[in-house]
Formats: sequence, C-alpha cells, structure tokens
Amino acid sequence: MKKLFLASAISAALFAAGCAQTDTSTNANSISTAPVAADQVIKSPNDQRQYRTVTLENQLQILLVSDPDTEKSAASLSVDVGLLHDPMTQQGMAHYLEHMLFLGTEKYPDTNGYSEFMSSNGGSQNAYTWLDITNYMFKVNNDAYDEGLDRFSDFFKAPMLYPEYVDKERNAVNAEWSMRREMDFFGQFKLGRALLGEHPANRFLIGNLETLSDKENSKLHEETVKFYNQYYSANIMKVAMLSNRSLDEMEALARKHFASVENDNIENPEVDEQLNFADVGGKLIHYVPNEDVKQLKLEFLIANNQDQFAVKPNRYVTYLLGSEMPGTPAATLKEAGLISSLNASASPDFYENYGVLSIDFELTDAGMEQREEIVRVMMDYIKQVKSEGVDEKYSKEIRTSLQNRFRFLEKGDEFSYVSSLAEAMQNYPAEYVISAPYEFQRFNPDAINNVLDQLTPERLRIWYISQQEPSDSELKFYDGKYKVVELSEQQLQQYQQPADYAVSLPKVNELLPESFAIRDNASFAKPKIVTQEPGLEVWQYPSQKFADQPRGILTVNINNEAPITDIKSHVLAALWRDLYSLNTSALDTEASIAGMNLSLANGVGMTLTVSGFTDKQPELLNRALSALAFNVEPRSFKQAVDRYIRAINNKGQQFPLYQSFDAYGSLIREGSFAEDELIKTAQSLSAADLEQFMSALLSNNTIRAFAFGNYNQPDIDKAVAQVKTNLPDDRNITDYRYAKFYKPQQQSAIVLRKDLDVADVGLVEVHMHPEPGFAPQAAGTVLQSHFRTAAFDTLRTEEQLAYAVGTFAPTLDRYTGLGLYIQTPVKNVADMHERFNRFKQEYWQQLKNMSVDKFEQLKSSTLITLNEPPKNLNEEVAPILSDWALQRFDFDSKQALIQAVEALTLEQLKAFYQATLLNPEAARISVQLRGEKFAEQPFADIPNMTVIESLSDFHQTMPKQ
Ligand SMILES: [Zn+2]
Repeated sequence: MKKLFLASAISAALFAAGCAQTDTSTNANSISTAPVAADQVIKSPNDQRQYRTVTLENQLQILLVSDPDTEKSAASLSVDVGLLHDPMTQQGMAHYLEHMLFLGTEKYPDTNGYSEFMSSNGGSQNAYTWLDITNYMFKVNNDAYDEGLDRFSDFFKAPMLYPEYVDKERNAVNAEWSMRREMDFFGQFKLGRALLGEHPANRFLIGNLETLSDKENSKLHEETVKFYNQYYSANIMKVAMLSNRSLDEMEALARKHFASVENDNIENPEVDEQLNFADVGGKLIHYVPNEDVKQLKLEFLIANNQDQFAVKPNRYVTYLLGSEMPGTPAATLKEAGLISSLNASASPDFYENYGVLSIDFELTDAGMEQREEIVRVMMDYIKQVKSEGVDEKYSKEIRTSLQNRFRFLEKGDEFSYVSSLAEAMQNYPAEYVISAPYEFQRFNPDAINNVLDQLTPERLRIWYISQQEPSDSELKFYDGKYKVVELSEQQLQQYQQPADYAVSLPKVNELLPESFAIRDNASFAKPKIVTQEPGLEVWQYPSQKFADQPRGILTVNINNEAPITDIKSHVLAALWRDLYSLNTSALDTEASIAGMNLSLANGVGMTLTVSGFTDKQPELLNRALSALAFNVEPRSFKQAVDRYIRAINNKGQQFPLYQSFDAYGSLIREGSFAEDELIKTAQSLSAADLEQFMSALLSNNTIRAFAFGNYNQPDIDKAVAQVKTNLPDDRNITDYRYAKFYKPQQQSAIVLRKDLDVADVGLVEVHMHPEPGFAPQAAGTVLQSHFRTAAFDTLRTEEQLAYAVGTFAPTLDRYTGLGLYIQTPVKNVADMHERFNRFKQEYWQQLKNMSVDKFEQLKSSTLITLNEPPKNLNEEVAPILSDWALQRFDFDSKQALIQAVEALTLEQLKAFYQATLLNPEAARISVQLRGEKFAEQPFADIPNMTVIESLSDFHQTMPKQ
C-alpha cells in the first residue's frame, strides 16, 4: 500500500510544467503573469460534472464534484506539510505519521478496521508524502460513502497513534526505505539536496529504524503526537470530494464530516531559505549509479515560478530546448550518433522554493567521449533561443496543443482524480485546479526571458552519470558513490565555447488537428470484420460510450511467430523497435504535441499503433509506415545492442517485487528467454542480420488490424491501402499466432529461482484451480480483496515483515489461481515460504466462518466494480482488445465473468479456496528471488517441484492451452 509515495517521487522528477503556488506574486512586467479572474471552477467543455467550492467555518476549503454517472464515490484530503518540516531529531516524521493515521481512530479504534471497511465496500485507500504535502485519499461504492467519510475524517480529528503501533510501524517505514535505497532516482535526488548546504531540502526523506527512534531528548511517540498537533490544522488542509449525489447533498456531507476538524489557525509552513549560487552552482558531479547507464544532465536551479502557470514560461522554454525537429540539438546529436535521447523538463518546486530546469541526455559510447562538446552544443542553442526563439509562433503552437487537450479532456479514475484535485488546491486558486496545466492565456516574453536568463553557468550543475565515473564519497542512507568537482571560471568558459555542431530553432508543427468532425457509423452490436483479404483482416468497432469524441485507436499487427519461438528473431525484433523509435522521435514528438501517439511494439511480430485525434491520423500512419523498414548502419546497430544489453542487466537493479512479477510473467507464457542467452545472442548479431530480418518479416506474415473509435469505412480503406503500399506485393501468408499460456498440471509445481544483486527477498506463490472457466475466476475475483486485507493486516501491520505484501487471483488464459506475494527485508526465502504456508491455513479459519451477509456484501461490491461504465476510450477498449488478442470473437469475457459472479455462492467461494491454497494436488507456480542479504540461506522446496533451468526448454515442452 501507499505506493503512491513512489509515483509522487517520479512525477515530481519527470513531469515538469504543472503545479503552482497560490500566492499571486507582484510582477513588475508590463504583461501580467497572473491568471485572469475566474468566478467559478473552469472545466473542460467535455466535462458534464458539476463543481462547487465551499469554505467551512474552520477555514477548511472543500471542492465538491457531482457526477450522477459514477458508481464510486471518493475523497482526498491534503495537508500543506511534508518532509521539509520533519524535526531533525526524527527525520521521516511526516511520512511516518502518514502511515500511523491508518491505524485506528477514537471512533474506529480497530487498527484493521479502515482497510477492512474499504475492501468490503469495493474501495481502495492510499496516501503519499512529499516535500511540502501529505495527501490521503479513498474511493468506495456510492452507498458506503457516508460511513467512508466518517472513518476517513476521524483521521484528522482523533487518531489513536497507539504507542505499541508507533513502535511496530517503524518497521514498515524501514522496509519501504530498504525497498527504495538502491534505486538510483532516490540516490541522485538525495545528492542533489545534499549539495544545497543549509537549505531544508537537504535531509533524509523516507525515514528508517535509525532516524525514527527514541533518543535522549526526542521520544518517537511524543514527537509523533506533537507533529500531528502542530501541523494538522484545518486552515492548511484542502479536501476534494466526488460522488453521484447532488452538490447540495454533498455540501451537507462535507459539513457533517469535516466541520469539526480542529482549526489552530497556524501559519502556512513555508520554506524561504535562499540559496547562495556561488556555493551551490557551478559544479560538475560525477555519480556512480547501480544501473549501467550513460547519462549527462544539465541541471539549472531556477526560482519557483509556479504562480505564473497562466503564461507557461517553463513549458515554453523546455518545448524549444527539447524539440526533436530537424536542426535542433536533439536531432543533430542523434544524427551524429552521440545521444539516443534528449529530454528537457522543468519542475519549479523540485526543491520547494527553488526548482530545476533539467536537460537530460542518454549517451552512446561516442557521446561519452564528447560530453563537453554536447554541453557546448546545448549552451549554444540556449543562446540562440534567447536571441531569436522568443517568438509568438511557438506560443501559438503550444497554446493550440494545450487547448485541444483541454477541450477533449477525458475522465479518469475517481481515486486519482480527487487526489490530484486535493494536491492542486494546495498550489493553485481553486477556480484553476482543473485547467491550470492547460492554461496559456497570453504570450509573455518577459516571463520566458526571465527563465532563460537563469540558465547561466553559476546556476548550473552538470551531472556525469555512469559506472565509469571517479568517486571519493558515498551517500548516507542510499546506495551511490560520487565526486563533486568545483568548476573554475575557466572551465565554465570551456563549456561556453562555440560548438562544432551547428544547431537551429525548430520549424512549426504540421500535424495539429484542423477538424474535429465525428464519423457517422451504423450501430455495431459488437466488433466485426470490415475488410478481409488473404493475409489481411481489419476489425472495426466505434465507441459505444464516447461516440462524440474525435479520437480513435488504430492498431496494426504484422503477425509472425518467429520472435516468440526463435531467440535470434526475438532479439532482432527488440532491436528493430529500439532503432525505429529513435528514427521516428521527431515524428513522435510532433504527433504528441498534436494530441496523437505513435508506437511500435515487438511481440508476435511487430505491432504499429496510432491513436488520439483522428483528423491527421492518416498522415501520421503514412509517415509511420514508411519509416518501418530502413537501412541499418553498423554504428547505430552496435549502439542499439549496447542499450539492449544494459537494459537487461539493469532489470536486476529493480525492486525485487517488480523482478518477481517480471519473472512470473516470463514463466507462464511462451515467448520469453533466459537473460544470459539473450545477451549472448545480441552480441552475435550484425546490422545485416537485422536488415534481413526486417525484410523476412515484412514478406512473411498475416496482418490483423483493429480500428476503435472515430473511423468510418473510407478511413479504414485508406489505412489498408497505406499498409499494403508499405509491404511487398508477393507476401507469403502465414497462420495467425499468439503467445500461448502454460496449462497448469495437477500434482506439479514449477519453480523459478534466482539470486539478486539487491538486498531484499521477492517471493510470488500461486496455486491454480484445477478446472478452467468463469466460475473459478468469479470466485477468485470476489475473494481477492478480502484475502488481501487479511494478508496485509497479519503480515505487515502485525508482523511487520514487509512494506509491500499482497495477494492476487491470476488467470492463465482459461484457468484461475490464488496467490501471495511479498518483498521482505527480514526473512529468507525458505522462512518466508513457510510463513506463507501457515498463513494459508490461518486465513482458512477466517474464511470458514464467513457469514452469508459478509459474503453477499463482497459479492455485490465486486459486481458494482465489474459493472462500472468505462470512463474513457482506453477503458472501453481494453477488454475488447484483450478478447481480440486471444481470439475470443464473442467479445463477451467481461459479461460472462459478471454472470458467473452473480451465480456464485458462499459454499463455492470456500470450495475455491480449498481447491487452490489448501489443495496439495493443485498446480503450483513459485518464483523465488533471493536477495544479497540472504544469499547464504536456502530457497524453498515444494512437493513435486520442477526447478526451471532453461526458460526456452521449458516453453518448448510445457503443456499449453
Ligand atoms: Zn510510506
């Protein structure tokens, strides 16, 4: 749970132009940077929901969203306090308190009560903590909203903060830290802050057993209570609520539950420490990461300008710096073979009152040799942007792009929506919480120049990131070595010398949509074939729910089984995809500005997908198809192989839990190969092999395409003609093929074992039900939330074995199972396996005694969730494409599951558990990843087990469905 902590970290790093501060700054510029006054919440014309803002007597500001169509209600509460406000004697406190609030309140004292309530009512809950925000959120079935709010709001009135759990929960935080400490993102973020001198951002964020502990003058429990009392005040909280009720009813609910949250009228805890650029800037940082990467990063420290969101200076600057158009640094350096990607982004509150504007390069080996030259190219280009680039024509392009996106803004999940609204309310005027990321009210050259003027050597930190860097220091609390070099005036000037490569500003975008016309389509009961010729089949289905949206998804599979049966073809397909995406990055960027996406995936053959606004899709498809086959330069081929091998090796640095699921996925379905064999194969290949493979695949295949959304027959005919033009006339037609699943065998266990380069253990254990069909799948679907809550309560809250622990009900094509997973820093594989085994029996005691009422509640909650209408095109098409890929042309899997859930009885639910986790005969799948910390300790033995030594041998011989 609380995995949003990570999500938040990554989004803070990657998604730049966004959040802003509410204070309206007084700017002396002639053109205002302030947003125009608005008297109500600005929403997309596409958004039928109603909004209202209310400020309660206790100064708590609440945003209400009424959506009569929703099946789920949700709420989120953010507090304007975070990691920067931790007491130095208890670092990690804000985050730790976030964990503690889930563990019981005066009115609902049971530590497990909240999660139990949520899982019984089709709900979910989470929270995250970042520099200056702690944000809590839940969603639940509509009929449970009142009680959900009652339980949730009690967090902010009377949490128990039990001393016993204060001590226990330290271990969950410690496990969370253990999970993240080896991640390079966190190490680099830590170092970036450590070099900020006395600034409050220079501290430990997550907390662990060492920092969160009793010390002579600082007792953990006392400090926890004190922190809560000091900062949890209604006047710095914001609430977003969404439900199917009317605004008046929601306002009544808001008052009922939040009016009594205490208001201490505290001062907004702002950070305003100033940086001394003479100390913190002008540095070269050598960083040695865990992953084998070759990166260069130019990090400029900029003043926080979030209050200028209405004129988007950061967006404007990064748009030009990151452009992939011909002549720009991205295009020029790629062409020269020095880089494989360039990304410019700004995060104006990255260090709270300071932000960063960052230019990130992925380098090739040749690029590693020429890092100074790359810096010079970028500095040259920045000069050009300053002198000629502040031009209204680019701002028109950016504005049109943002306006189009806002005009057709799609709905998302209620949970994420309230969460993002409650966060945005801390940053923007309430009227702008939805539209702020899309506002571009006027071209403001002064605001843009102000950002450009800060891109100076004294505010610059240059990062050289690779395993070959020199180092003289080690990070505390994180894995990472580094060396910091002060750049002298002379060295800085070196970087400013004219570059050897000439670069220029981009031309304007040609793909922006001009028409949003909607296609007229006859009614479709279900998807159907609209074009069929030998070796080519096109399916069509217009959206049933969003027929008024000018969008569509067109996917073209050039089907050929070689990449899943032959390791050489498998590797070549991956290299093809890599070089294709490098070759088409300019097209891809142009498309994405125009509200479209382009991707080429390797799987069973190659799959090209274009999506987004349909107006200019034919042009995009045409350009995408004509780029499909290309001459392969030996130099770029070698660079692609290098990236391929490093990506495989770097998988070993991921969270053990991710690695476990990755390994699980590779085991249960054909088409995967052992990593060392993939590497060996990649090393043996040449550019000529790839050219040969491309031509073989394009000459031997069957084409299957699916058009979902705003297309009509002429559109499809045009697409078909384009596809055919780009394929040889004398194609040899092959049979359609998809990757088959393992067919579970009674009395057998397949076990995948691996030693890791990271510390913790990752374990996934599944028992498959012996019978295929929707009845077992229905039982697994109904049971999993209850089972998960029990596992979380026992294995995390009570026993503190892990931060990440859970259960799932996986399907292997027609078969369903039940399983447990964990990443643990405290138990070895065999002991954890043993603990899982006992837990399977312990849970049976709970399940055996489940009442009919409880069962009916779980069942009706599951049905509400399954029957939720799709909220956007992607949600609508997902189950359809999944049936399509598995050749289930009745397209009724979802409906069949719903019917099976309706028919399910309590006895059948129990029988399902007995037939899986209690059944010694059940087919078992076990993934055992042994962390470095436990390398000397045993794996787990399972009756009837076969330890898989070679994935490809196993896939060749395994029984398939
Ligand atoms: Zn956490």
